[in-house]
Amino acid sequence: IREEAKKHINPETFNRNVWFTDKDENQALSLRYTGEVLYDKTSEFQRTRIIDTYAYGTTLTIDNMVMCTEKDESHYHEMISHPAILSHGHIKKVLVIGGGDGGTIREVLRHSSVEKVTMVEIDENVIEASKMYLPSVSRSFNHPKLKLIVGDGIKFVEEAKPESYDLIIVDGSDPVGPAEGLFSKKFYESCFNALTPNGILVTQAESPLFNDRAFVELNGCLKEVFGNEKVKTLLFHIPTYPSGTWSFQLGVKGDIDVTNVKDECAETFGNNHLLNYYNANVHRGAFALPNFVKRMLNEL
Ligand code: SAM
Repeated sequence: IREEAKKHINPETFNRNVWFTDKDENQALSLRYTGEVLYDKTSEFQRTRIIDTYAYGTTLTIDNMVMCTEKDESHYHEMISHPAILSHGHIKKVLVIGGGDGGTIREVLRHSSVEKVTMVEIDENVIEASKMYLPSVSRSFNHPKLKLIVGDGIKFVEEAKPESYDLIIVDGSDPVGPAEGLFSKKFYESCFNALTPNGILVTQAESPLFNDRAFVELNGCLKEVFGNEKVKTLLFHIPTYPSGTWSFQLGVKGDIDVTNVKDECAETFGNNHLLNYYNANVHRGAFALPNFVKRMLNEL
């Protein structure tokens, strides 16, 4: 589909010096692209676009923010999935909230222990755009273990049966618009109730260097719900997000040590699936926080 779409690119504008800028109050990230916007639709929630960047390949943007690029999406999607699943060992039922590009379900569905994945994405345009232009990211939308629901993940978790998921992954956007409620205590209380006794929650947690307020507030909120010792933060590199350092925070309901993994288990899995980013040392190292981050989280 992408090759077909590319045929319609105007050769006169193909090599234009056009930049996409993901701009915040005091900083910006720019990527040069072909000048053609391959997909551009605005829903009641947000504007979804696809552009072809020179440095990072096909790129999904939502409301002028980079969400996912071909070149570095694996960092994000491998780290949101594998640390929790491999440290737990018996994850069967998974709920993914958001994640419309399909990268998270692609990673989750690599695990043979997983029996069923329910994904609730609020905006079908994101799914459509990714299916059309990011086939390597969206390739699992037809997987037989997947149940895809287009709807509000917040409402879905509120109404979920208690103890029905071993893993809940919140792959949402920044805390504005439809994702604002994904950063509230009420939402995480619903997630806690929906987790099985040994269940794990993983949530997109912004950056300690960029959106430090949301990063700290989310940590406090998770600690109130799960307990201080049961919340762990991991950091990873992603060059196309502001500051290049991003985080996930994990809430553990039972006694699983999510910060560790058996070498053999992580290496076998990583080699079998030719992973790009994740391995056993990356898993453990990601939970080793720099002092300034520990201070922010009152963990030093
Ligand atoms: N994987 C992406 C990346 O690399 O950054 C994550 C960001 S994006 C896919 C986040 C998704 O969360 C968007 O598609 C957005 O529509 C969705 N979303 C936001 N609020 C939501 C809500 N309340 N319920 C379900 N999905 C939501």
